[in-house]
Amino acid sequence: MNSVNMAHIALHVSALLVSITSIVFTLIQQRTDKIQNKIYIVLISIVGFNSVTQIINSAMQPLVHSSDGAYLVVRVCDYLYFTFHAALCPMFLVYVYSVCGIGKFSDLKRRLSYSLLFIVSELLILLNPLLHWVYRYEDRAFTRSWGESLIYIAAVFYLGVSLFRLLFSWNALTAKRRLALIYFFVIVIAGVVLQLVNMDLKCELFTEALALLGVMTSIESEDDRIDIDTGIYNRKALQTDLTSYILNKRPVGVICVKITNLELFERTANFENPDILPTVVAAFLRTLVPRYCIYNTNPGTFILTETDGEPARSMKIAEIISRRFDHTWHFGENELLLNAVVMTSSAPERIKSANDAFYMADSPVPANLDKKILTGRDLDYLMRRAAVENALARGFEEGGFEVYYQPTYSLTDRKLHGAEALIRLHDSLLGNIFPDEFIPIAEQNGLIDDIDDFVLREVCSFIKSGVPASLGIESINVNLSVIECMQPGFVKHINDITEEYDIDKNMINFEITESIAASNYEVLSKVVKALKDDGFHFSMDDYGTGYSNMRAIFMLDFDVVKIDKSILWSAEESELGRIILESSVHMIKQMHRKILVEGVETENQIELLKALAVDYLQGYFFSKPVPKADFIIIAKAGRK
Ligand code: C2E
Ligand code: CA
Ligand code: CA
Repeated sequence: MNSVNMAHIALHVSALLVSITSIVFTLIQQRTDKIQNKIYIVLISIVGFNSVTQIINSAMQPLVHSSDGAYLVVRVCDYLYFTFHAALCPMFLVYVYSVCGIGKFSDLKRRLSYSLLFIVSELLILLNPLLHWVYRYEDRAFTRSWGESLIYIAAVFYLGVSLFRLLFSWNALTAKRRLALIYFFVIVIAGVVLQLVNMDLKCELFTEALALLGVMTSIESEDDRIDIDTGIYNRKALQTDLTSYILNKRPVGVICVKITNLELFERTANFENPDILPTVVAAFLRTLVPRYCIYNTNPGTFILTETDGEPARSMKIAEIISRRFDHTWHFGENELLLNAVVMTSSAPERIKSANDAFYMADSPVPANLDKKILTGRDLDYLMRRAAVENALARGFEEGGFEVYYQPTYSLTDRKLHGAEALIRLHDSLLGNIFPDEFIPIAEQNGLIDDIDDFVLREVCSFIKSGVPASLGIESINVNLSVIECMQPGFVKHINDITEEYDIDKNMINFEITESIAASNYEVLSKVVKALKDDGFHFSMDDYGTGYSNMRAIFMLDFDVVKIDKSILWSAEESELGRIILESSVHMIKQMHRKILVEGVETENQIELLKALAVDYLQGYFFSKPVPKADFIIIAKAGRK
């Protein structure tokens, strides 16, 4: 055996080893329930098998002239090699289709036209022993015929179409997948070109095996797409998969399962194993759809994709899931009855981007639901949420935010005391939107920080104008989101803004609601203390709507406690309500805080509050929140 043959054998053995490595690791990862993985295994198996034929072929070469048997083996090996190798590039196209989420070729014409070159190639190869159009043997030496060029052209065609599909789905691919596929093309094309130029190089199989190894380590390994602890697909996976379905106009049913009493699980299940819930629920969901169609997007929230695209089937799955939640679940030793809402929708009709699916997953479901399955129009609240979210973004671009002021008065002399700044959003598409609707959304998507900064700046510039002081206003109240207060650097942030305007910090009174988680009191009390040391005032907002009021008042150094309108209103209605209002006032006074009562709408209520000797009043009886110019007019008119 000469050294050239030895080199060929070494190259092919390397290709075989690389192929086997790829197969072994793909199987170890156990991802082979996905079509994509199966195709991958076929691809790499073809390369592995062809390496074997080439090893045998090279080993037999020295004997070809002396032995008829060796010559026959060589011919069989070449025949097998060509037969399988011609399937590699068409198979790769199918692989790219599946990676990009394009799905099956649905129409027959297209399928036929794509298969045509493959069929012709295979026919030429299969009939080669008779026709010798692809290759022939001259003096028992392998010689190319014209048909081999055609087979190369077919390969280039399939690679080209793959590349085209890939570029088309470019936005749906993660950077890692893009890199892996581009790497594949470069290295395979390099191998083909080299071998085309010099037939004796025989590097084609080795480069193919290497390229597929690259594909395996990046695309077929899904480390970034699954949760390591539970093995369930994550948000990122849903994002990329849905994006590619939508981009490729592939219809999919999207089913969202939202457990609404997750706190029950959190309270009872042992804390060391929070993964047990997704694991148990996903195991059930797997009986309905394949594993790779289940995504765990948030704690207690799952999204299923149904790629048959039949709305009736999605509905059926939703019903089965909903019925399952009528029964208890077993988490280790615990047996729990979980509540869930199931939503069904479909892409691309209603779900037009992955974000729409995340609205389903992320938005709190309305509290007053009378159904367990939501579909079609039931999901309009999500569309409204999406619309409001867009309006919030537009608000900053188009200057749609405006600060309104609602005056507050002293009880004893009914003299103007201050004002509360309240945000309004005038949107070009949706009209006026009220804070009760957009503040919770802004708190979720982080825009609340910008809104609160905007209000603070407006108030600072109003104070800076000198008008409030000239009207006898002691301070203006500014609402703060508690979430924002807890962020590091908050105290400095507030000081930086107010110092820009060079105003008296005493003129600003921050309102925070008391529905704060008890564990956060420590951080919060530090923030309140620091800002009070700087001169700001603090009010506790909405007293009486949460449960930890007294503790909060005690722990946090508030100047004023604002009693919520619901307390005032129920005091008018019932004896119990009156007792609650009276004892609240009594307790707050004992803690030496001033008291403001909100929601004063009638003279009768003022009489009731006079008897309790609270300090300040705010409500529609005096004025609704109004634009700054109107507020100035009201303030100038003075006492009521
Ligand atoms: P809040 O801080 O409790 O504000 C008082 C709300 O009660 C205001 O609603 C006000 O219009 C309303 N109100 C005042 N007097 C009466 C009355 O006599 N009768 C009735 N029925 N309602 C009265 P608004 O302006 O819609 O604000 C709703 C909530 O949105 C606020 O409740 C506050 O939690 C939040 N919010 C408003 N502006 C801001 C802001 O700039 N930043 C933050 N973080 N939250 C804000
Ligand atoms: Ca308030
Ligand atoms: Ca309030």
